[in-house]
Amino acid sequence: MDSKEVLKEYFGYDSFRAGQEDIINAILEKKDVLAIMPTGAGKSLCYQVPAMMLSGITVVISPLISLMQDQVKSLNDVGINAAYVNSTLSESEIDGTLNMVLNGIYKIIYIAPERLESAKFCEFSKQADISMVTVDEAHCISQWGQDFRPSYVKIVDYINSLPARPVVSAFTATATNEVKTDIECILRLDNPKVVITGFDRKNLYYSVEHISGKNRDRYISNYVKEHIDESGIIYCATRKNVDTLYETLSSMGISVTRYHAGLSNEERKRNQDDFIYDRSLVVVATNAFGMGIDKSNVRFVLHYNMPQSMENYYQEAGRAGRDGLPSQCVLLFSAQDVIINKFLLDKKDFAEMDDEEADLLRQRDLQRLQTMERYCQTTECLRNYILAYFGEHPIAPCGNCGSCNSDFDEVDMTDAAKWMINCVAELRGRYGKAILFGTLQGANRARLRELGAERFKSYGRMKDTPRETLERLLAQLLEDGYLVQSDDQYAVLHIGDIAPLKAGGQVL
Ligand code: ADP
Ligand code: MG
Repeated sequence: MDSKEVLKEYFGYDSFRAGQEDIINAILEKKDVLAIMPTGAGKSLCYQVPAMMLSGITVVISPLISLMQDQVKSLNDVGINAAYVNSTLSESEIDGTLNMVLNGIYKIIYIAPERLESAKFCEFSKQADISMVTVDEAHCISQWGQDFRPSYVKIVDYINSLPARPVVSAFTATATNEVKTDIECILRLDNPKVVITGFDRKNLYYSVEHISGKNRDRYISNYVKEHIDESGIIYCATRKNVDTLYETLSSMGISVTRYHAGLSNEERKRNQDDFIYDRSLVVVATNAFGMGIDKSNVRFVLHYNMPQSMENYYQEAGRAGRDGLPSQCVLLFSAQDVIINKFLLDKKDFAEMDDEEADLLRQRDLQRLQTMERYCQTTECLRNYILAYFGEHPIAPCGNCGSCNSDFDEVDMTDAAKWMINCVAELRGRYGKAILFGTLQGANRARLRELGAERFKSYGRMKDTPRETLERLLAQLLEDGYLVQSDDQYAVLHIGDIAPLKAGGQVL
């Protein structure tokens, strides 16, 4: 059978999706592969199809037990013999499974990264005919990502310990350059074929709603009522939020379940299955929910809070619309989220690292947060913002997102922009946005009097402008480069390149 026939015979699909065939062909030519494809693009097939065609077995390293179980179950369902080895099995069950692999019963075996170091598995690996080692969710190897798993770093030792080096294929949805380089280097991929498919999910409609406090509950209740027959995920930052919102929606008679790390294993599993099999249409969850969840008909993903990074947001929002039908991703933003997230970052434990390393990571976390905040504040095309973050170069606004469809009037802001830039100049690049907004609004605060803000020309010039508008305007000016914000914790504002504005005679 060739790869197309395997695709049809086992998976029932007629054609490959973008990138799949290239990856499969490379593997069959025994060439290492690094595939970076968005969530839902179909990465699993890229190693499962060649696994059926290679002479030996394929070892798939996967970070989550639930993920392995789901994958093995769906492979077994289509008649492919696959098994997993993880902590849910007893030692004798593991022995049994490994024996069956040696006897040629299983073609694909999933394993948790920690297991690779066990004497038993090493012994097994020396006897088995291993054609391919696949590293799924390969970004777990990178310390820059949020899913870092120390045992991923040791995968390369495992590969080196094998009698013959198998072809190595690595898969992830994280496209930042740091992560890509980490995967290539740490896994020591051998001149790999790198396949990166586009990150644009055309069927997803992105929008940001500036809503805070209890109004969020009202917004979500209404939204869910208006989409009563549809399946959706609502992400909240804390377990407490999940519980409260879950109660609210249940009491309205919505078909809803919940998921977070505070629930027992059994309840989590049951609730997840209820959602997957449409017994509950909506799930309210923390970000513990979703990795590897393959549900095609999710019509909306709402975020009750701003996530900590664009990577997280893209992945979570990307669980909508895997079937390619139009779906919505709505992020509810309140300034409070930024404060909470900064607080969480401050509390984050970098115990195992030296100070320098911890500082570096903290800095990166803060930058990620700023990027996310700018997404929430931008008036430009949201899709393009996301794509640009992941290194693509979109040409024109998409016409199909909250920003493209909004009537936020930039023309009216020219005067306001002028005063904001003036104010930053008067503050001499020493202060952040709290002082900037206070000055523009003419606030009567001791701190402002202290620094003489009352004598500024810009003082009180935007007295009646709501904070939210100031935030959006600032975001716009930062994005256009007229203003610059320092990356450190002080987030001090400076004048950027205002030459074009000056040339137009508009500023200062
Ligand atoms: P990823 O790991 O990239 O997030 P999955 O491998 O879980 O994505 O695949 C997502 C969904 O796409 C699955 O339901 C899978 O069966 C489906 N899929 C993958 N390849 C194809 C294809 N060539 N044609 C149709 N559906 C596909
Ligand atoms: Mg996957």
